[in-house]
Amino acid sequence: MNNPFMARAIQLSIEGVRSGKGGPFGSVIVADGQIVAEAFNQVTSSNDPTAHAEVLAIRAACKKLGVFELKNCELYTSCEPCPMCLGAIYWARLSRIYFANTAEDAAKIGFDDSFIYRELKEPHAERRIPAIQIMRDEALAGFRRWAERPDKIPY
Ligand SMILES: [Zn+2]
Repeated sequence: MNNPFMARAIQLSIEGVRSGKGGPFGSVIVADGQIVAEAFNQVTSSNDPTAHAEVLAIRAACKKLGVFELKNCELYTSCEPCPMCLGAIYWARLSRIYFANTAEDAAKIGFDDSFIYRELKEPHAERRIPAIQIMRDEALAGFRRWAERPDKIPY
């Protein structure tokens, strides 16, 4: 099935490679049948490991629309999102994800994110990057302030 938004996401992935700015990934965010934002991966050129196409497109769409949620928007991405992007997509509350290449396709060219899913199942201290809990009681002060604040903006 030919889809113009996915075609654009794929085109962005190719443009990204041509530009030399990052990996071969492109994303488009669509609302009401219109492209709101688009991006390609810029990890290496921006020295930003979070500059995946999906994250950049979400940031651009939120900025353009002046919102912190993209509830009525859909994401078209040239590859199945990595765990970081998937998290960002859920936080942004996009309504749907369309993807073209699979995570397995990405792994074949050196972008393997399956280890992150495996890591999540490991106990904190046994992960490749150990996660060590300290100062919980002190940190709870911030949570109490939030819970008690009557005028907070929930999200
Ligand atoms: Zn990603």
